[in-house]
Amino acid sequence: MITFRGIKVYSTLVKNALSKSGLPDLDYALNPYIGCGHGCIYCYARLYTRNDLVSANWGKIVVVKSNIVNVLLREVKRLKPGIVGVGTITDAYQPVEAVYKLTRKSIEVLINNEFNVSIQTKNPLVTRDIDLFTKKPGKIDIGFTITTLNNELSAYLEPNAPPPKARIYALKRIAEHGIRTWIFYGPIIPGLNDDEYTISNIVEVAKEVESTLYYDPLHIKSFMNKQDHPLYKYIKSKTREWWQKTRRIILDYCEKYRLICKSGFAGDSY
Ligand code: SF4
Repeated sequence: MITFRGIKVYSTLVKNALSKSGLPDLDYALNPYIGCGHGCIYCYARLYTRNDLVSANWGKIVVVKSNIVNVLLREVKRLKPGIVGVGTITDAYQPVEAVYKLTRKSIEVLINNEFNVSIQTKNPLVTRDIDLFTKKPGKIDIGFTITTLNNELSAYLEPNAPPPKARIYALKRIAEHGIRTWIFYGPIIPGLNDDEYTISNIVEVAKEVESTLYYDPLHIKSFMNKQDHPLYKYIKSKTREWWQKTRRIILDYCEKYRLICKSGFAGDSY
C-alpha cells in the first residue's frame, strides 16, 4: 500500500478487463481502478463496486488493477469489437492515473484492435492523451461531467475533483482537436444546482463546443437517505413536479441555443 495525495492505494490482479455493460449505447465497460479518489458525495458507483472496504471508504481508498493491460491484450483477440465505456464505476482519469497510466495503455490496446471508446471524466488529465486520441479520432468520444460552474459548490459536492473551469478548459482543448465531446449535467439536485443561471451557462458551454448535453436528476440512493448525509436535506424536494419544471427550463434553453440535449439515465417520462 502507498499513500498518494491522501488516498490509500492498493494493488490487485484481475482475471477480466472488459465486462458486459448494462448502460445504453455501450457494449463493454472497462474500469482500471476500483474506487475513485475524487470522492463525490453523491457518487452512485460505490453501490456497484465489489469491494466493501472501498465502498465504505469512498474517495479514500483506491485499488489499482495492475495486470489489466495484459489481460485486455488477450481479451481483445477473442471478443467481438464494440463500444467500451471507460470509467463507468470509477473516474479512469482520477489522480492515480497520472502515475499508473493504465487508462492510457488500455485505450491504446482498444483502439488498435478496432474497439471504440467512450470516456466520462471530471479530470483534465485526459488531455495528456490527446496525442493518442488524435491517431484515431473517429473511435473516441469524451464526456465531461459538469454539475455546476460554482467552485465552492463543486468543492462541496466533488471534494477532490478538479474545479469546473478546469474541466471546461479541457473540454474545449479536446474539441479543438476534432474529437467528439459531450457534457453530462448531473446529478441535478433541487436547491443546489438546478437554478436557471447554472442551466443557461452549462447550455452555453455545450453550444460553444457543439457538445451534446445529457441531463439527469439526482437518483436517491439508500446511503443518502440518512440524516447525517449532506444531501439528506435536499432529497425531500425531489418531486415529479420539481423535475418537470426543471426539465422544461433545460429543454427551453436547448431549443433556444439549438443544442442537442438528451435525457441521462432517468428517461424523459420521469
Ligand atoms: S468522479 Fe465519478 S466515479 Fe469518481 S467519485 Fe465522482 S461520481 Fe464517482
